[in-house]
Amino acid sequence: MPAARPLPSRADWERRAAALAIETRAHIDGAYCDAASGATFDCISPIDGRLLGQVARCGAADVERAVAAARRAFADRRWAGLAPAKRKRVLQALARLVEAHAEELALLETLDMGKPVGDALQVDLAATVRCIAWTAEAIDKVYGEVAPTAEDELGLITREPLGVVAAIVPWNFPLLMAAWKLAPALACGNSVILKPSEKSPLTAIRLAALALEAGLPPGVLQVLPGYGPECGEPLARHMDVDGLVFTGSTAVGKHLLACAATSNMKRTFVECGGKSPNIVFADAPDLDAAAQAAALGIFYNQGEVCTAASRLLVERSIKDAFVEKVVAAARGFQPRHPLEPGAPMGALVDAAQVERVLAYIEAGRREGARLALGGARVHCDSGGCYIEPTVFDQVTPGMRIAAEEIFGPVLSVIAFDTEAEALAIANDSIYGLAAGVWTRDLARAHRMARGLRAGSVWVNYWDGGDMTAPFGGFKQSGNGRDKSLHAFDKYTELKATWINLAG
Ligand code: NAD
Repeated sequence: MPAARPLPSRADWERRAAALAIETRAHIDGAYCDAASGATFDCISPIDGRLLGQVARCGAADVERAVAAARRAFADRRWAGLAPAKRKRVLQALARLVEAHAEELALLETLDMGKPVGDALQVDLAATVRCIAWTAEAIDKVYGEVAPTAEDELGLITREPLGVVAAIVPWNFPLLMAAWKLAPALACGNSVILKPSEKSPLTAIRLAALALEAGLPPGVLQVLPGYGPECGEPLARHMDVDGLVFTGSTAVGKHLLACAATSNMKRTFVECGGKSPNIVFADAPDLDAAAQAAALGIFYNQGEVCTAASRLLVERSIKDAFVEKVVAAARGFQPRHPLEPGAPMGALVDAAQVERVLAYIEAGRREGARLALGGARVHCDSGGCYIEPTVFDQVTPGMRIAAEEIFGPVLSVIAFDTEAEALAIANDSIYGLAAGVWTRDLARAHRMARGLRAGSVWVNYWDGGDMTAPFGGFKQSGNGRDKSLHAFDKYTELKATWINLAG
């Protein structure tokens, strides 16, 4: 990976940014095109408010064209009809192309949504390449089944692609979230329509050209930039879309489930929000490491992470001392220009997100939590969207900052006295995406892991896992799973074929 090389300097990145020819059009049936209406929307960088381009503002007419192209591609089997080993080779070529263009894509991602470019390159791009390559490698190793029948019949259980799949993705890890959907959807033989967030459309648009170059037949992947209600919703309501996969907020996820229910019952899988508890017991093996992880867990990616460790539950006997350690670690996350190598935090995605986060900080103050660090917008003269790492102590479970997903760099610290109380507070949430437990007591670690109602549980670290493990949520964090072989379940129908051998 390019990640192994030293990062270019900020001046280098800025030179490259100035030289970028940014593609802003939709991609339908193998070619870039304007929106049918000719409409565009401004793509603004949250780093400094500069205009990056005017992006095709797709709507219902573009959805019709894209669905028709995807349906034609599926119906004539130009992709679905290939042997899995052939689809594998195309996706492997795509992984290599993404790797070869990693610095360009990382730069686009950073300009578009504000994350530190080092993270974009070493985390987002590295994981995107791994996701596509791993999924490609898996697809010709997945077998069907033969039912245990009597001698005079044969029962075959096979997987078939759904057909036309719409993928609607968010802005916090734009390319990686797209890859989590596209890789298994394409590997299984589906045709796909990708709708990136209107806040971060650029890498998805660029990916369409790389997919063609890798050998994906025209019409198998379309990319439609546009707003949710204008472009996403017609996809969700479309009668000729067979599958809908979504990553984003719980509110929109619920709405999309309703769209599917009132249209054609398209198979619908939604990966939604979180309010993950990170639980530190007094017997944690290394409190300094736990404090560093607690800070990284909430401030990484400006807190714009579905699994952000936004609720820090600490055993009361060590709480004050531990909060001091966390605050000290948090001071190291002051936001800097995202093109500076080593910037620990960058810009939030846009001005609306800044307002949302500041409103939660104000709510925390009003509800009586103690502001231990941060709380303000900074670097205002840059024209960008920056907020300090913010820590609230003395939070109680009923407060809004303890219950609602903020999606910003704001940590809520809650004290507990017993294991049972910690578990009750942790599970008292509409969400169930991830949770962390810090203890050296093996039995307690297992008890907690069993009791936590979350799709991922991490013991003595935060954010473990890779492509080999499924990722997704309990409760209103969603349904279905991304990553691992389990992801194929979302993109295939099971068929049972029975053959009478009696003669
Ligand atoms: P969002 O729900 O506002 O938007 C997500 C996508 O849905 C965007 O492409 C948007 O244009 C589209 N959309 C919005 N309204 C729509 C509508 N009415 N019809 C169809 N499409 C519509 O979410 P966001 O602000 O982009 O992302 C942040 C959210 O994503 C957070 O809640 C976060 O927790 C969640 N998230 C979850 C995971 C996960 O794997 N569980 C991963 C990343 C982010």
